[in-house]
Amino acid sequence: MTLATILSRTQQGLDAPLVRVEVDSSGGLPQFSIVGLPAAVVKESKDRVRAAIANCGFEFPVGRITVNLAPADLPKEGGRFDLPIAAGILVASAKLPQAGFDGTELYGELSLGGTIHGIRGALPTALQATREGNALIVPTRNSAETALVRNGRIFHASRLLDVCSHARGLERLPRVVESRDESGRAAVADLADVRGQPRARRALEIAAAGGHSLLLIGPPGAGKSMLAQRLPGLLPPMSEQEALEAAAVRSLTTRGFRVDDWRCRPYRSPHHTVSGIALVGGGAQPRPGEISLAHNGVLFLDELPEFDRHALEVLREPLETGHILISLNARQAEFPARFQLIAAMNPCPCGHLGDPGAECRCPSERIESYRSRVSGPLLDRIDLHVDVPRLPSRELRGTNRSEPSALVAARVQAARARQYERQGKANAALTAAEISAPGRIEPDATTLLERAAEKLGLSARAYHRILRVALSIADLASDDRLRSAYVAEAITWRQLDRNTGPQSALADSA
Ligand SMILES: [Zn+2]
Repeated sequence: MTLATILSRTQQGLDAPLVRVEVDSSGGLPQFSIVGLPAAVVKESKDRVRAAIANCGFEFPVGRITVNLAPADLPKEGGRFDLPIAAGILVASAKLPQAGFDGTELYGELSLGGTIHGIRGALPTALQATREGNALIVPTRNSAETALVRNGRIFHASRLLDVCSHARGLERLPRVVESRDESGRAAVADLADVRGQPRARRALEIAAAGGHSLLLIGPPGAGKSMLAQRLPGLLPPMSEQEALEAAAVRSLTTRGFRVDDWRCRPYRSPHHTVSGIALVGGGAQPRPGEISLAHNGVLFLDELPEFDRHALEVLREPLETGHILISLNARQAEFPARFQLIAAMNPCPCGHLGDPGAECRCPSERIESYRSRVSGPLLDRIDLHVDVPRLPSRELRGTNRSEPSALVAARVQAARARQYERQGKANAALTAAEISAPGRIEPDATTLLERAAEKLGLSARAYHRILRVALSIADLASDDRLRSAYVAEAITWRQLDRNTGPQSALADSA
């Protein structure tokens, strides 16, 4: 009886816990069994492994072969374990030396002919293996993304046969060479293309400076999407850690991580017909949703009231915590989801309420039911609300270029740097206790805010949101003191709080 042990990892959210593939080969009646994998994937894996071994010119061992993927209670997907299972069988049947795989993790789905196909999640897997000091053999298909890992000992292979030569010390597999193309910033849309809209541009700048969420309200064609698309270009460059997190989430998707996207702020704009699972993540083998693909970037929800109401309610948790926990039956997976939310809506179902160029004939009940689809608690979590009116056509025809993104981005970066120096995080991430720390706010600013809160009937949440936004306005002004002028401006960005909330507020702007 011979026992072989090959290391690998499964994928659980962004986590990649270690899995030991133990293979026992003993005499007796021919039998090949795999335990520790879901029954549905065992048969396919067995068939692929058996054929791949035979097609590489090895004799499949006679006798009893038992493969155990431990720990048994970890959820596992099949494909990535083909290669470690095949290697384990070859070690257990004395075709390969165990020493050839010591301290090395193996990944890859095998074809019947013994070629190695790529896997999902190679980047988070390689990051974790490297942190724990192991070497890896990954599919060649995944070598570009694993090249992002610093100080990794990563080899890549495209055939089972090459892995065998490597283990025998005959011919080493090629190393994945660490590389990051820092120059390859994809082209981002520029604010210079947006005509007019001084209020909306200002709101966008404040949102970028403090990491605030933003709601754009205006008729169709007013340029709400155009504005939203320009937010990523105003945000500070991603840190390496942020970029790695965003890349790791992407690595879990079917499409995978593309090296061209390295250090590009994610921008996701799912259509309002998107399913709940596609928006927040989930599935039998949990996958990240749009909110996680927008991690460290921007999530744009156009036509906010048209989204599934339940899905919108689920957004409240990640908006507060920066991650989402997905539970399905007994399985749980956590994905990061620290996104900046930009939402847009029409002022009424037809979109023309308050539009001087068109007439709105929506009955008032329809307007109310349209707006009430976005719940108060979600609106409460959006820091800035701004009107985006349709521009008179002469303004659109003007030839004056607006201020380009680069200038705005420089102010945003300076404001962000002040926040990190002062408090180690963006203003939007401050807790209520942190924001109202003694000595932070000028007394007359407090008086102003308290008076406004009473008059507008602001919730405690909205009160703190105003303070966070006022801080960002102060940071843009390079001012250390939170003065009443900043609070006064911040109050103007809570349009939907005025009077009795969303129902009547929009009518006011009409
Ligand atoms: Zn209307």
